[in-house]
Amino acid sequence: MLPFKLIYHDQYYLPIGAHVFPAEKYRRIHQRLIDSALAEEADFLRPQPASDDDILLVHTPAYVDKLKTGSLSPREELELEIPYSAELVAAFWLAAGGSILAAQCALKDGIAINIGGGFHHAFPDHGEGFCMIHDVAVAIRRLQRDQKIRTAMTVDCDVHQGNGTAAIFAGTRTISEPLPSSGPSALKPGAVMRGAHAGDVFTISLHQENNYPTWKPPSSIDVDLPDGIGDDDYLAWLDNALSSALRRFRPDLICYIAGADPYREDQLGGLALSIAGLMKRDELVFQVAKTRAIPVMVTYAGGYAQRVEDTVTIHSNTVIAAKQIFSTA
Ligand SMILES: [Zn+2]
Repeated sequence: MLPFKLIYHDQYYLPIGAHVFPAEKYRRIHQRLIDSALAEEADFLRPQPASDDDILLVHTPAYVDKLKTGSLSPREELELEIPYSAELVAAFWLAAGGSILAAQCALKDGIAINIGGGFHHAFPDHGEGFCMIHDVAVAIRRLQRDQKIRTAMTVDCDVHQGNGTAAIFAGTRTISEPLPSSGPSALKPGAVMRGAHAGDVFTISLHQENNYPTWKPPSSIDVDLPDGIGDDDYLAWLDNALSSALRRFRPDLICYIAGADPYREDQLGGLALSIAGLMKRDELVFQVAKTRAIPVMVTYAGGYAQRVEDTVTIHSNTVIAAKQIFSTA
């Protein structure tokens, strides 16, 4: 048995047909974890879909109504970049329920992993970039409403900037000011760290600057990475961003968005991390959270490796990293 829960449902599968988003990855990760004896069925919890009230903690009534009645405009559906269906709506409500459950379990066990979710490009009033509903924001707002947490920190390591996250929590920001340091001086590749103070949710995004989304609304800390950055530089920037953030903000929960797409063979990413480097990234986030006794919930976000097997490996390694860090006292 793992010392923490994995949240998974067969219906996480996104019914989007042939698509660069490998909708079957969730099933394959689940299968890989079982086949490799890394997890057993008892380690998995099956989530319920989020309620409409949960979704409305983040999204506007008009947008939710359009989703439930199938009345997105052609432009709105185009922006979503995945074909609308009622089944797709159900899959996103379920992913949000999974992230709520993962957050609840993380508070109990120190960590929990949703084998799905991380739809960080969804905004309150529209979806884009394969993201219909912002499951992580829904989970944060639900736990705040239930008075289980007061503050949270999102740590977004997907190769694409967390524009939805930044926009959703921007309203809670109080003041904008430059960071005291522009990053580790030993690093030359020209990455830029910029930031603003946060309100009740502190948002960090490490991403490739020269990639979607074109408009990047400011997170509390954005690390704009240059093309082709490798393991060592990436890990140094992540370490720096986490230290800088945690010097200024003490969250009750960390929401780690563990995208697999900073991988060097990703079709939609332009960074150059190795599979081993991505696992070190996971270990770094988990070690920081554990050392400071901050619960961490994980979601998977993107992953478009040329070989889907690699995406499955990267996401499965996140569970191995969690097991290594959280099995020891
Ligand atoms: Zn991505």
